[in-house]
Amino acid sequence: GKIDKMSAEVVDSNPYSRLMALQRMGIVQDYERIREKTVAVVGVGGVGSVAAEMLTRCGVGRLLIYDYDKVELANMNRLFFRPEHCGMTKTDAARKTLQEINPDVEVESYTMNITTLQGFESFKSSLLSPDGPSSRVDLVLSCVDNYEARITINQVCLELRQTWMESGVSEDAVAGHIQLLVPGSTACFQCVPPLVVASGIDERTLKREGVCAASLPTTMGIVAGMLVQAALKHMLGFGAVSKYLGYNSLKDFFPTMEIKPSVACVNELCRTLTAEEEARRNSPEAIAARA
Ligand code: ATP
Ligand code: ZN
Repeated sequence: GKIDKMSAEVVDSNPYSRLMALQRMGIVQDYERIREKTVAVVGVGGVGSVAAEMLTRCGVGRLLIYDYDKVELANMNRLFFRPEHCGMTKTDAARKTLQEINPDVEVESYTMNITTLQGFESFKSSLLSPDGPSSRVDLVLSCVDNYEARITINQVCLELRQTWMESGVSEDAVAGHIQLLVPGSTACFQCVPPLVVASGIDERTLKREGVCAASLPTTMGIVAGMLVQAALKHMLGFGAVSKYLGYNSLKDFFPTMEIKPSVACVNELCRTLTAEEEARRNSPEAIAARA
């Protein structure tokens, strides 16, 4: 009757009701925990801006976004940014759009280069909780397009014992990957650089001055979707999160693999954390708990 119709209207106009249905269907135990989650998205270009939009539409509590660049007309072959954003910083343009889409999400924007000496420190302190040396974010998503920025994120996350996810799209725009990095437990970015693993090609030798990389909104959208899907599964505790998930669009192939930390990693902190974790796993207490 009338009541049924009213409640149907209430359900339909609430943007969260379709998400809450995940809970009714037994996929997620407590979807509303998404409201308490803080995610840092580093780089809001082709992948990061779309990932930030997806998290915003999913109702994440707080988003920290980082980028040093401005929106250009050349970015219009990607999703998210629009011609009227040209000339604005990507962080300002993204913050404005994200808050229009979902005003419940708190968006903090950081217009900075994370790889400079000062940038490294500001990036690290922006992730710190006000009352202690620990991180205030649940997850860092790396959506940058260069090696130096990834090394910076790797170092900051090792120092904060912060779990993060790395993403990348190949220079020919037809492949991509995501990787889960848990300090001490999985490989760090320097244990095995993932692009080398995926393609046998070192990104540094590919990135030449004046050579224009290809890009496709399709591949970037798919990688952003893979990344945020993994982020939701990790933060809300449903399904399995692969340590590495690749995407090869030419062969419609999605390889997964485990990437174990390397005892020969060039990063000393990674070696220390891995040894500590190994000792914890082999302690009499841990063995007794497993038995
Ligand atoms: P293109 O280089 O093809 O024009 P792009 O620069 O937008 O594209 P994307 O792969 O779409 O590259 O996105 C990567 C994003 O990461 C860019 O917006 C870039 O500004 C940002 N980024 C890269 N390095 C840093 C850094 N050190 N600090 C902050 N942001 C960074
Ligand atoms: Zn390592």
